[in-house]
Amino acid sequence: MSELYLVGLGPGNRENMTGAALSALEKADVLCGYTVYVDLVRDWFPDKETYTTPMTREMERCRWAVSTAASGRSVAMLCSGDAGIYGMAGPVMELAADDPRVEIIPVPGITAAVSGAAILGAPLMNDFAVISLSDRLTPPELIRKRLHGAGMGDFVVCLYNPASRQRRTALRDACDILLQYRAGDTLCGWVRNIGRNGQEKELLTLDSLREAQLDMFTTVYIGTETTERAGEWMVTQRGYDDHIKDDLYCEKLVEQYLNNDDPEKHDTISLEDLARREGIIL
Ligand code: SAH
Repeated sequence: MSELYLVGLGPGNRENMTGAALSALEKADVLCGYTVYVDLVRDWFPDKETYTTPMTREMERCRWAVSTAASGRSVAMLCSGDAGIYGMAGPVMELAADDPRVEIIPVPGITAAVSGAAILGAPLMNDFAVISLSDRLTPPELIRKRLHGAGMGDFVVCLYNPASRQRRTALRDACDILLQYRAGDTLCGWVRNIGRNGQEKELLTLDSLREAQLDMFTTVYIGTETTERAGEWMVTQRGYDDHIKDDLYCEKLVEQYLNNDDPEKHDTISLEDLARREGIIL
């Protein structure tokens, strides 16, 4: 029985790849994947055999990986981010699930939503929805339905595959749907080439995002009305806001109280009573 590792590489830099992913690449006899992803790791394993197919020939790649593992050589199927998120994990499992010669070993990776979020700040602090705008495997009306669902549900939205040469208006159409549910000045952001050469990012309003010319190497974040700038960061409120203010207020009150040099006062009210009087939850 040979191993077939389904490896999420993370966004593309070695620091954001897990130890488990690196050791799967080391153990495998063959590295297999989309040409761009195999190129990311090729230099680290110069002696390793590789098998690549271009985009649109994913199933050919999956069949090759399963039959190679079945014939006795271990294979690492490489995907960017996580193999189980718009990756090859599902198709490979469907092909190899009942094959006793193949041992499937999924190895998780940091998906673009997460690695890009850390570059922008903390946009995914609360409930969020990830939606791919690619209509290659999903009908456009279903994508639109999901965008409406996310808008209606007040989710922060993270978009994968925001554009391609064939889909120039996809992002604008998605923004138009979300503009039915949230204001034009809603804070948004995008990150391009996360963890790779040429990494860039921008914070902008939903109105400006509608006009942005992005490409398929970009991940997009659309905030809700609780998403704001905190200095240079894009932050969606976690909901502690009132408590943060209460804590600061309480600290100030206690400080004033303790600095009061009237000793009588110290005996007349406990901190709990003081808090209760001021309507603060301790
Ligand atoms: N399995 C991948 C997603 C593949 S779908 C993952 O878990 O991250 C491809 C889309 O992912 C791209 O169109 C882009 O929106 C996003 N993406 C993947 N890697 C990226 C990177 N390094 N920088 C920016 N976006 C990325």
